[in-house]
Parts: sequence; structure tokens; C-alpha cells
Amino acid sequence: MKAFLDVTVSLCPYCGTPYADASWYVIELASDVECGVCGRSWNPKASKVDRFLLEFLLDANGKVVEARKNKSLTQINAD
Ligand SMILES: [Zn+2]
Repeated sequence: MKAFLDVTVSLCPYCGTPYADASWYVIELASDVECGVCGRSWNPKASKVDRFLLEFLLDANGKVVEARKNKSLTQINAD
């Protein structure tokens, strides 16, 4: 079995710390977050650097066996 998670990677514009979050949160909500390293507020949607589909391979009981990058969504969702 397989399950998928649409992930967006963004960089804090003040200190460069990378973050990976669910794309529905970054793209749809587009709300500001507080950097856990430098403490400043910024917008992950405005600072996104990559978006891709994370694929989870599951065993018969739905437990995650492996996670891997499925494909880039950058061209599909150019927002
Ligand atoms: Zn920061």
C-alpha cells in the first residue's frame, strides 16, 4: 500500500533555517510562522524553495516501511 503527503520546503529569510511543512498549510493557509531558531516572523509561502510529493510505502497493517520523494510539483503548482 502507498500513502502520499504534499510537502513544501521553505527557508527562513532572516537566518536561512530550512523548514518542511504540509503544502496545505503553507500554500492554502499562507499564514506567517515564527522561526524556531531566530525567533522572527515570516511567511513560508513567500519563501518556498521546493514542493514535492512524499510517498510512504506501507505494510499490510498501514505501518510506514519507507518514505521517499515521489515527484516534484513545482511546475504543476507554480504559485
Ligand atoms: Zn530564522
